[in-house]
This record gives sequence, C-alpha cells and structure tokens, in this order.
Amino acid sequence: MTRSKTGIRKKSAAKGDLFIISAPSGAGKTTLSNKLSAKYPMLKHSVSYTTRVPRIGEKNNIHYTFISRNKFQSMIKKDAFAEWAVVHGNLYGTSTKRLTELRNKGYSVLLDIDTQGAMQLKRKITDAVFIFILPPSMKVLSERLKGRRSDMTDDIKRRLKNAKKEVQSYRDYDYVVVNDDISKTLKELESIIISSGLKTDKVDSAVIKAL
Ligand code: ADP
Ligand code: 5GP
Repeated sequence: MTRSKTGIRKKSAAKGDLFIISAPSGAGKTTLSNKLSAKYPMLKHSVSYTTRVPRIGEKNNIHYTFISRNKFQSMIKKDAFAEWAVVHGNLYGTSTKRLTELRNKGYSVLLDIDTQGAMQLKRKITDAVFIFILPPSMKVLSERLKGRRSDMTDDIKRRLKNAKKEVQSYRDYDYVVVNDDISKTLKELESIIISSGLKTDKVDSAVIKAL
C-alpha cells in the first residue's frame, strides 16, 4: 500500500480516482479545481475539447483544446469522447484517451463537466465520485459571472437561465458543497478526496496479510 501526495492510500500501481465536479457556470469550479490540483500534484485536471472561443488569457491545451465544430463532429464519429454535450450553445467533451492515460498512470483525475456529461459518465463509470457545487445564491452567482468579465451580457443571461435548471440536478451527485467562503469550500472538497482514498476497496490485501 502506498500513500500518494493526495493523501490517498492506494494499492501499488492502482488506477487513480476519478472526481467529477459540476456546478452552474460562475459557481467557482475552475477556481477550486485549479487550487486543488496546485496543492495535490497527484490530482490532475483532464483538459476537455471545446468549440467555444478562448477567453482572454486562456491557452490552448491548458485550459481547453479549442477545436472547430467539424473537428469535434469527426471526433464524435470516431468515438473519441468518454462523454460530450452541448453546453450554453457550444460543444464540450472529455477525451477517453486523455482520461484513461492519466488514470492508468496512477493520477487521480478531476473532471469539471456539466450535468449532462456527468450523467453520461455515471452510466459508464461505476467508481467515480460525483460532486455538485452550489453558489450561495443566484444573486451571488450573477455577481460572480459579471465580476469575471469574461462573457458577453447575453451569454451571462443564458448562463444564469441555465443555472436555475442545473441546480435541480444536485440529487444525482454523491456530495453537495456550497461555495461561499473559498477556504472552507476547499477544505470540504479535500475531505471528500481524502475519504475517497480511505475506502476499503483501496486497501492492498497483501499489506494486511503482512501485518
Ligand atoms: P466556473 O468555473 O464555475 O464557471 P469560476 O471559477 O470561473 O467559475 O469563478 C467565477 C468567478 O467567481 C471568478 O471571478 C472567481 O474568482 C470567483 N469566485 C470563485 N469562488 C469564489 C468564492 N468562494 N468567493 C468569491 N468569489 C469566488
Ligand atoms: P466554460 O465555457 O465556462 O468554460 O464552461 C461551460 C460549462 O461547460 C461548464 O459547466 C463546464 O463544467 C462544462 N464543461 C467543460 N468541459 C466539459 C466537458 O468536457 N464535457 C462537458 N459535458 N461539459 C464540460
């Protein structure tokens, strides 16, 4: 049994854990995911493909792999996505190859995906942990979206309208975290990650025998 830098106990050479995080746009997924992966080097964010245009400061293959609709469609035909969905008018998808490679290398993976994509994975992957992040209120969500200054007014309206529907999906997730105070939210997410690593099925029976 080894203890990785995430504090997660694992069987040697075991596949990494999979954490799926969904939230309405602006609730803080990106901020939280970045802070978690910066703190825990064994926790990697799988870079999604999207047809959305890059925001200022977003880098190709770091924040997303930005591709055309044609290229996205051809990847769908080649069955290259573990899940994909139309979100706020754009296509987004998780590459099966990227996800599998990271997990097979032993990394725990954080997927920041919408509720439609999360439900596709719930049907396919039985050992994933599903986390839903709620904003403290719709008013705060609206202020965060406006404060981010990355989307046009119409896009913000569309994201707020979708948020009302998206929050109803919280029941389909294993955990619900309210992102009010960022340090508190991070502690709660860390507890989920750590407790997932302490599950019985992560224990290497050889170590128990050798006790
Ligand atoms: P998402 O990825 O869910 O769309 P972001 O991570 O981009 O959301 O966060 C939206 C905005 O809210 C950003 O400007 C971010 O800095 C801010 N933010 C995130 N979490 C908090 C928090 N707990 N308190 C205050 N502002 C926050
Ligand atoms: P944004 O455009 O703000 O970066 O993301 C918009 C929404 O798309 C967010 O809810 C985000 O979680 C979701 N998203 C990002 N990548 C993926 C993905 O690969 N698949 C799915 N289904 N949703 C994604």
